[in-house]
Amino acid sequence: MQGKIIKGIAGFYYVHVVESGVYECKAKGIFRKEKIKPLVGDCVDIKVLDDIEKEGNIVEILPRKNELIRPAAANIDQALVVFAVSNPEPHFNLLDRFLVMMESKEIPVILCFNKKDIAAQPELAQIREIYQACGYEVVFTSALKKENMEPVRKLLEGKATVIAGPSGVGKSSLINLLQTEVQMETGSISEKIGRGKHTTRHSELIAINENSYIMDTPGFSSLYVNEFDKGELKYYFREFAPYEGKCRFVGCNHVHEPGCLVKEAVEAGKIHSIRYEDYLEMYRELQERKRY
Ligand code: GDP
Ligand code: ZN
Repeated sequence: MQGKIIKGIAGFYYVHVVESGVYECKAKGIFRKEKIKPLVGDCVDIKVLDDIEKEGNIVEILPRKNELIRPAAANIDQALVVFAVSNPEPHFNLLDRFLVMMESKEIPVILCFNKKDIAAQPELAQIREIYQACGYEVVFTSALKKENMEPVRKLLEGKATVIAGPSGVGKSSLINLLQTEVQMETGSISEKIGRGKHTTRHSELIAINENSYIMDTPGFSSLYVNEFDKGELKYYFREFAPYEGKCRFVGCNHVHEPGCLVKEAVEAGKIHSIRYEDYLEMYRELQERKRY
């Protein structure tokens, strides 16, 4: 029988099987030999030992689409990153770092700006101007007024989505809203793993319907970009793509090279200066790191 690991604690893995609920499973020795540890998000084949008590053994881990280290998870389809439109003001630098990390791992990102109920028009316009312009999916929500939850649900449909964001932006409120509608259907899950409303401790996937999962991640306050070479950074700013390879110098890093089309695009307002400044800052950090 196939299912998905939604949680792992103290040697037990909780495997969600769409038709029949959650099984408490152990992973037998085969994985130790192959040195693979089951991860939350893994699709696994289980052998049911007891269908009443819902116990089983994981007999196989199916091939992974990808693997994240923090949070430790496999087969993540996308990330929903939550910021507030206001109170707290969106921290664009942090957001750009997050986007770079996700681009480098080829994980699609949806941007959710919450608290739209207290937003002023210019704030919404600025966010659109920066992020929609470079091709990101942007949704504005109000968890407080329960506005625009339907588009969010649609975007999560059929996927395993990591939800990240700094604290205070309304992430827990949104997660609770996404959960409550299906609380009854997924009652068996909560029963089995003993959780009620949302709390963040271990990596855990929450089934929000039978084929959609969300995973909360503890709020990030700072993110350092340090997992790749500075020359790679430009590929993670998707709005640079149309100019890539067209600057005067082969291998132009769009920093201070003459005849750089990216810099010209920034000056012409085609690339947002906030994004470009963040690019330069991250580029310098990667450069500093290389000196030591
Ligand atoms: P988290 O720290 O990101 O998990 O945020 P919470 O869900 O705990 O919310 C932080 C604060 O923002 C609380 O006081 C919420 O009542 C408030 N809040 C959450 N969503 C909204 C919203 O859509 N609009 C407004 N005005 N306040 C909100
Ligand atoms: Zn250039």
